[in-house]
Amino acid sequence: MKRLLIIFTVLPLIAVIGYLTSAVVVEYDRQVKLEQIPVKAVVQVVPVTPVKTYRHDPELATVMTSLGLDYSKLNLIYAPAPNQSALAQAIYDGVDTIYLNPDHDATIVNRILSHEYIHHIQNTRRLGATSFYPYLETLYGSNYQLQRRMTNYSNNSACLNGCNLNLEVQAVACTELPDSQLDPSFIKWCNAFLPKRASLFN
Ligand SMILES: [Zn+2]
Repeated sequence: MKRLLIIFTVLPLIAVIGYLTSAVVVEYDRQVKLEQIPVKAVVQVVPVTPVKTYRHDPELATVMTSLGLDYSKLNLIYAPAPNQSALAQAIYDGVDTIYLNPDHDATIVNRILSHEYIHHIQNTRRLGATSFYPYLETLYGSNYQLQRRMTNYSNNSACLNGCNLNLEVQAVACTELPDSQLDPSFIKWCNAFLPKRASLFN
């Protein structure tokens, strides 16, 4: 009788407990496996633009710094530009490079670099240049000293790739004419890009 009780009650009970235990273990295993699956990394594809580096002649960089001019996006090359006219002391290539001919007048390096820097501003910022054309034409027409200074430009002998006389007058006027010869609004334009402009006339 006692043996029958074991067969019909205890053994089924053990079987049921065993089944339930194994189910829990299986479920536990499944959770662990799910947790172990690595979350797929989200890869954000950012287009890589190559970092452009610029060459700075240390001597020219020192002058630019003393003038408060930002040359971080300019090459400063202390050598003549390819095909540079013998008359040109310096050239801005219209993109990102200023060449200074070592055969320049050493006393006016600051003025020469400022002149080429104005061309860089004209080219990259497109600020004010066109709106000043009528003023620059009047200035040129009424200033004999400026006309003499511009002789090389007006006959194009110092210009590569053609010459826009207004843009040259703008660069020369900003860097070579004192405030007394200029209109206040034009002085303001020059000073915005040449913070040490007054030092060019000392
Ligand atoms: Zn020029």
